[in-house]
Amino acid sequence: MLFKEVIGQETIKEHLIHEIREDKVAQSQLFHGKMGYGTLPLALAFIQYLFCENKAESDSCGKCSSCRKVSELQHPDLHFFFPVVQAITKSSSKHLQDWRDQIRESAYFDLYEWTQRIDGRERKPIISADESIEIIRKTTLKSFEGGHKVYVIWMAEEMNAICSNKLLKLLEEPPERSLFLLLCESIDGILPTILSRMQIVSIPRIQDGELTSYLVQKTMIDIETAQSCTSFSEGDYITATSQLKQQENADFLEIFKNLMRFGYKKDVNAMLDWADYTSQQSKEKQKLFVVYALHLIRQSNLINYTPGALVKLSQDEAYFLSNFAKFINGKNIQAFMQTMNDIYYHLERNANPRIVFTHLIFQVMRYIHM
Ligand SMILES: [Zn+2]
Repeated sequence: MLFKEVIGQETIKEHLIHEIREDKVAQSQLFHGKMGYGTLPLALAFIQYLFCENKAESDSCGKCSSCRKVSELQHPDLHFFFPVVQAITKSSSKHLQDWRDQIRESAYFDLYEWTQRIDGRERKPIISADESIEIIRKTTLKSFEGGHKVYVIWMAEEMNAICSNKLLKLLEEPPERSLFLLLCESIDGILPTILSRMQIVSIPRIQDGELTSYLVQKTMIDIETAQSCTSFSEGDYITATSQLKQQENADFLEIFKNLMRFGYKKDVNAMLDWADYTSQQSKEKQKLFVVYALHLIRQSNLINYTPGALVKLSQDEAYFLSNFAKFINGKNIQAFMQTMNDIYYHLERNANPRIVFTHLIFQVMRYIHM
């Protein structure tokens, strides 16, 4: 990860770059801050800069072989440890591919999202004594590339007491050229004996202006929506994006309800207005809406034909579908799915959205009355 890919946090970036450029890297560091502030992305950018063979003043080159290995999380001298569900495995190494997949999707994630990824039953993951044995074992290996060896412990507050105690000596006297980066959200969860051995880097919230402009750039939403998400999020990117998603889904549910209501009532004027309104949304939003509509149609089918199945819906969605689902049945489900897929296909190929959505709502009218 490059420093410039990390949202905001200019002061911390300068501090970290300075540490490396002045060759004053403390060997045991604790990055403390919410994951939504960018604690992990900052650590990843810091590590990449440390390994980079062709550092610029303010960022790594992103191109040298070290940069590539770090950004792909494949550097042989870079090791990650994180909480895992003990009933599944006691070692991070079993979830390394999940870890890479997660970071490739987004390096902004929290323990909740991580737990959902590694365990469908969402049992609580921890970092256990077995992991500390693995960490100690890895520190005895020689550096593959002859340079630094870096050990990242993500969500270090999830280390249990045995694990923490086993690492004390290592953190106090790290082997030469090795760097321990512990990342945590809550400093209260870290043993005081560990804390006293670490240099603490406090990561502050992302500034509102930086978060807003990032959201506008990344998601192409308008500035007012971005500002309202930012104001709820208290400098936390994870909260801001989940807020954004909720708002979007609320909008989509409203559009979906109207699509079905007007089609059901055969109210032609309202149907044309609906097509008008929907075609004025951004292209990205139109496509997301179609995906959303497909999701609700599938869920309706599930409600009808698979009692007790795990239905993935918000409260408002569930309430609407409790009345609506009966209109989706064996006679029209295929037609609904096919039409939604066709609509998506045409939108991707820049068909006129007004024509596309007018076609859609008239088809829906037919299908509901099949
Ligand atoms: Zn480089």
